[in-house]
Amino acid sequence: MEKSLYTGGCLCGAVRYEVSGAGRHLCYCHCESCRRASGSPAVAWGTFDRNGFRVTRGTLAEFRSSEPVQRGFCAACGSSLTYSHAARPAEIDVTLATLDEAGELAPQMHVWVADKLPWARIEDGLPQLPRGTENTLP
Ligand SMILES: [Zn+2]
Ligand SMILES: [Zn+2]
Repeated sequence: MEKSLYTGGCLCGAVRYEVSGAGRHLCYCHCESCRRASGSPAVAWGTFDRNGFRVTRGTLAEFRSSEPVQRGFCAACGSSLTYSHAARPAEIDVTLATLDEAGELAPQMHVWVADKLPWARIEDGLPQLPRGTENTLP
């Protein structure tokens, strides 16, 4: 049985969340927006049902990184936590690396590889999509 309740939070602990249900579309996103939002060459994301997501401490600060996209983060420490796309109102993406048990959900593919930094090497054998799926517009 796959675990169905995950907890997570930001670096400083001001924002804590929980998310239930199965994570899907687990991926590394190499798009420029994710890179700049996180300060890292790629971001690992998992998609969950929005009604299973709940902030349990603090407040999610939000930034609109493009017309349809809201990125949620901790206003105190800057950790990148969530991604919401207007085309997928019933879903929310969560940064897999901020889960407390981050080792449990491993990315299954790379998306937006067309934006990948030349020095970022992909050597894990996972599928590489040049852009997103309909799920992963930046
Ligand atoms: Zn924080
Ligand atoms: Zn991205």
